[in-house]
Amino acid sequence: MANYELLEEIEKFGRENKIPILLDDTLEYISKILNDVKPMRILEIGTAIGFSAICFSKYLAPEGRIDTIEIESLRVEQALENIEKVGVQSKIRVLEGDALDILPYLNEEYDVIFIDAAKGKYLEFFEHALRLCKKGGYIIADNVLYKGMVQSDYNKHKQRTAVNKLRSFIDMVLQNKNLESKLIDIGDGLTVSKMIEK
Ligand code: SAM
Repeated sequence: MANYELLEEIEKFGRENKIPILLDDTLEYISKILNDVKPMRILEIGTAIGFSAICFSKYLAPEGRIDTIEIESLRVEQALENIEKVGVQSKIRVLEGDALDILPYLNEEYDVIFIDAAKGKYLEFFEHALRLCKKGGYIIADNVLYKGMVQSDYNKHKQRTAVNKLRSFIDMVLQNKNLESKLIDIGDGLTVSKMIEK
């Protein structure tokens, strides 16, 4: 039996150590989608300490599985430890490496794909997600409004490249005719796309 009560402790560790784990309102929004879909397969890009993947595992169909990709080995270690502590190791597979190296090797289809990693690579992640998402499935991307900067005209030089890339990303998502997409102003900004045609 999974011990989801430990999630509180994992969340506290994440917040105290400034690890950018899912915000409460974003988690609540995504949980509603997952609760409706009852996914068999979820793909996550950006595991961190496993907080979101463990939360998502509550909504899987029986026999459902999550693949989650993380580039930093310390985070992979922490995620594996947390997944084991909660007792959901049979439901979550952590893949270590740069998602852009791993994604080309994945070839099954997923019901829900969650993008939550390097903002500068969202366009590339999304290209893979389009290939890997089932018809009728969802692609969700977090942090697309980047602390309000994407909707502001006044951004520091340092953030300008990421902001421009996120703007192009949002345009591409909203214009894709195979998707029914919306941009939602909760947490750090979320795009939610349902793949209506493939
Ligand atoms: N989804 C996690 C949660 O809510 O609990 C938080 C993920 S955190 C926002 C982003 C994670 O993506 C970081 O741990 C970072 O190391 C990882 N990351 C960044 N670029 C990546 C890449 N190219 N491939 C895989 N992981 C990446």
